[in-house]
Amino acid sequence: MSTPRQQVLVFRELPPDQLARLQAAHEVTVANPRVAEQRDAFFEALPRAQGLIGSSYRIDAPLLAQAPALRVISSISVGIDNYELPALRARGVMLCHTPGVLTETTADTLFALVMATSRRLVELAALVREGRWHKNIDESLFGWDVHGKTLGIVGFGRIGQALARRAALGFGMPVLFHNRSAVNVNEELPALAGLARQVSLDELLAQADIVALTVPLTDETRGLMNAERFAAMKPGALLVNGSRGGVVDEAALLASLDSGRLRGAGLDVFATEPLPLDSPLRTHPRVTPLPHIGSATHETRHAMAVLATSNLLQALAGQTPAATVR
Ligand code: NAP
Repeated sequence: MSTPRQQVLVFRELPPDQLARLQAAHEVTVANPRVAEQRDAFFEALPRAQGLIGSSYRIDAPLLAQAPALRVISSISVGIDNYELPALRARGVMLCHTPGVLTETTADTLFALVMATSRRLVELAALVREGRWHKNIDESLFGWDVHGKTLGIVGFGRIGQALARRAALGFGMPVLFHNRSAVNVNEELPALAGLARQVSLDELLAQADIVALTVPLTDETRGLMNAERFAAMKPGALLVNGSRGGVVDEAALLASLDSGRLRGAGLDVFATEPLPLDSPLRTHPRVTPLPHIGSATHETRHAMAVLATSNLLQALAGQTPAATVR
């Protein structure tokens, strides 16, 4: 039996093949509220929308109040910090997301940030591009070895574990990790047996040369990396943030960079995105800033769109999608 056609609101661009899948089954409006010219169309379609699909937009109780017909939101992301979960629960709105399909690509991005920040790749590429390479570089521009350094991973889920494999198996890096629940490395990740060890956050910060953040943004992790935790890091350590900007107190990070306590920071995510032009993090000489590109490859963004579209189609058909947030 075919599903009755329902009202779908797409609030971030979808690739044409996935948009066509939705249009074949439902009435579809495409309107991104973050684009000024499309904002009115989004709020005009919201009251009749039964399904929403998109990402990077806050969906909270006041917005839900304007969406009385809504039954399901399919997020094109694994992170769900943009959704006010208690409000969704109270309204009985299902939330789906895209775990797994972006894990390896995001871990690649984070390892690239480790390399770029430690070896100062962006800064040194600029030297060449801007015609400032007049002689062999001297030690003022030397980098810091990555291989053999201890990597501390905060949040040892899918992405954290994929990062650990790259570090331990590819670069000979001892891995320490901190996670909410216990992870039995020998049983669950035999390839990392003897190479990765679970420790407290305090021990991780005290021992790691490079600290990588791969936790979700939640009430527990908001501002996790504050002045006290930066002060607990090894002098001269590096920070890499691939989770969400809100996990880091950016003022405290800047103070730790300026005091020389931290060697540098590789940041894919920021408290406010796009990063405001007046943010000191944008031009800080020891920050490698990226525009939130963890999953941004052709292959992975397409795989996320396919999964998110499948989630929405299944939910609207009354089935339970595999990637439902519980
Ligand atoms: P995941 O598999 O759910 O892993 C998250 C891990 O963090 C889990 O192991 C979880 O522990 C742990 N955790 C949660 N709260 C914690 C806390 N308070 N203290 C310590 N550990 C805690 O998720 P994932 O797929 O790896 O993604 C992780 C996050 O990366 C996403 O939520 C998203 O924000 C971010 N992300 C960013 C990008 C990007 O473009 N930069 C791309 C993808 C994802 P438990 O096992 O106990 O739950």
